[in-house]
Amino acid sequence: MTPPRRLLSRLRELMASGAAAEVAAPLAELVRLIAGELVSEVCSIYAQRPGDILELSATEGLNPQAVGRTRLRVGEGIIGLCAATAKVMNLPDAQNHPAFAYRPETGEEPYASMLAVPVRRAGRTLGVLAVQNRTPRHYTDDEVEVLETVSMLLAEVLAAAGVADGAEEGLAGTLPRVFGGVTLVAGIAIGPVIVHGGFSTARRLLADDPDVELVRLHDAAERMQRGLDELIAARMPVAETSNSADASASIEVLEAYRLVAADAGWLRRVAEVIRGGLSAEAAVHRVAGELRDRMRRISDPYLRERLADLEDLAGRLLAALGGDAPREPVPPGAILLARRLGPAELLDWHARGIAGVAIEEGSPTSHAAILARALNLPTLGGTRGMLDAAGPGDSAVLDADEGQLILRPDPDVRRLYGRAIEARSVQQAGWAALRDRPAVTADGVPVSLMLNVGLGLELDQLDITGAAGIGLFRTEIAMLARGAIADTAEQAAMYARVLDAAGDRPVLFRTLDLGGDKLLPGAVPSEEENPAMGWRSLRIGLDRPALLRRQLRALLLAAGGRKLSVMFPMVATVAEFRVARALLVAEARRVRPTPERLSIGSMLEVPALLWQLPALLAEVDFISVGSNDLLQFLFAADRGSPALSGRYDLLSPPVLDLLDNLLCKAAAAGVPVSLCGEAASRPLEAMTLVGLGLTSLSMPAPGLLPVKAMLAKLDIGAFRPVLAAIRRNAAGEASLREPILAWARERGLPV
Ligand code: PEP
Ligand code: MG
Repeated sequence: MTPPRRLLSRLRELMASGAAAEVAAPLAELVRLIAGELVSEVCSIYAQRPGDILELSATEGLNPQAVGRTRLRVGEGIIGLCAATAKVMNLPDAQNHPAFAYRPETGEEPYASMLAVPVRRAGRTLGVLAVQNRTPRHYTDDEVEVLETVSMLLAEVLAAAGVADGAEEGLAGTLPRVFGGVTLVAGIAIGPVIVHGGFSTARRLLADDPDVELVRLHDAAERMQRGLDELIAARMPVAETSNSADASASIEVLEAYRLVAADAGWLRRVAEVIRGGLSAEAAVHRVAGELRDRMRRISDPYLRERLADLEDLAGRLLAALGGDAPREPVPPGAILLARRLGPAELLDWHARGIAGVAIEEGSPTSHAAILARALNLPTLGGTRGMLDAAGPGDSAVLDADEGQLILRPDPDVRRLYGRAIEARSVQQAGWAALRDRPAVTADGVPVSLMLNVGLGLELDQLDITGAAGIGLFRTEIAMLARGAIADTAEQAAMYARVLDAAGDRPVLFRTLDLGGDKLLPGAVPSEEENPAMGWRSLRIGLDRPALLRRQLRALLLAAGGRKLSVMFPMVATVAEFRVARALLVAEARRVRPTPERLSIGSMLEVPALLWQLPALLAEVDFISVGSNDLLQFLFAADRGSPALSGRYDLLSPPVLDLLDNLLCKAAAAGVPVSLCGEAASRPLEAMTLVGLGLTSLSMPAPGLLPVKAMLAKLDIGAFRPVLAAIRRNAAGEASLREPILAWARERGLPV
């Protein structure tokens, strides 16, 4: 539904007047117009003020005395909830909604229904626009659409009035600020900051002629697609002429991205919004904003990543609409700050010479993180709030080792980090020299250090790090990168490449760990409250045995008579393992040549398995502890929540006790155990695990040589009794990190 012309043209005048300081009168007129158009008795605008306060700034229908007086915290009442969640609230019976907060001064008792939409700009909430009616009613989709379009335009009016300037006032914008984050690629960088992705807002919001805008959109989409083709073609010769797994996997990711670009769905949505009266640029902004909001509500990193690709494309489309203006040069050592970042953007920025990246919403499994790892570009994710705090001319220290971004660092801090970077290059030369040395403790205990791998991209790390093999091959990553499950032949070719690259070194393939809302495009998302604990992983494989069997056949074909190790993820009962194993054994009977040896193992990620150990150990050839999921389920702590990261420790009595128990029972049963969560890559954790007797660790590549360096100095014979004593004295402690770290530091171990 097109917003009424009268409303649009009045909004156009308001924006043209630059409205800045004198915004109150025009807003009063605006709420009157909206109330009239939507046949609502009430229309109100709440603007966000510093300190997360929403203030009633204009109303038609509520008590005018309440303007400037009625205030709600973000999260308080329906208005506050709308702002906090950035979600539309369409409530026929608002007064009985659990969040309803009564404000007597507004006189809103008689109004039953409410439609509230967030007013958002460049990913931030500036306020809430709401209408209310006496009679209970569910507002139609068309009415929601009108109010959302108006709210987008209102965002520009509020921004012009300074609402977007937020809480950073006075000195706050010049003092150092530290933002914690998650290490996506370790490393340190110091330099000026540049900001990506806080899309510059569209200047011209309303369309004079929607048909002209549709033609502009069409032309720009074609230009964008051509640009992507060129970008991919520019990397293609590298992939064709070199064996570099890095180059070929970059192509895999970019190809998947090109498919998303060609998907007509999101462009159709942009066209729809243009027909609603917005300019092409404003329509792209609007759709990008919708995507951002959807992303916020999706917990799964993989699905979020598909949407991140789309947001990335929206940025490219805006650039194409603007005639691809020439780009500013990137200053040396620059650190890129982004809200989100897609793979093509990352490649672009890397080619332009950035030294590091911090992404507010980046997760370790994002395409950008995968590429950043391949490019060895220090990268930090989850640094929320940094974009609001950063200003032009700021510099920063990106300490991705310690998971922090220091904005406007003190000169002493800068100097310190400068020295750390020098020391690191010396240390790295030392680590490289370690590559061909065996992984063994100072007192001669060998430890198998293997790699976690998900894409062809990472295979060259086997030689770069001198790893003993691949302790976890995550088969679902390549499928997610390409956006579909490959057929048997394609899968077999993919797995054969992995086995070829590994040569004599072992590879533990893990079957598909998809599910919950970690879905491939086209799959119907399930309505689950907790997708991580939902219909995912092996559960899907067992319910859709044809899918699992196809993968098992591909693995057997890839082995072509060589040794093959396969493990199943998220096993919760021994019975599940039995069914999965039977499928593999049945496939193995059909495929020729049969593998020289077929090892079938289970991941240990679901705590329930710990109480089934005797039965499990009697049936598996090996166990791999997935500490990422095991800790999440053990402590009931979402592994993806930045608010919880670091709250529960692997180096704690419950985890060490359960691993100890597992290792004792597995040793008695003669079943090898390895651990393949991210924790294995951290030297202190690795030291403790080896101290418990776990001598097979699989980890992301950057951790391998530092762990090997630590082992070379570790006298495990001396550490074991110390660890035992620390554990004995630890009843009730949340973490044993301090005493373990103190022991390691005293001995000069590089942890
Ligand atoms: C784990 O859970 O520790 C694991 C290795 O699997 P993923 O991280 O792929 O869930
Ligand atoms: Mg797992």
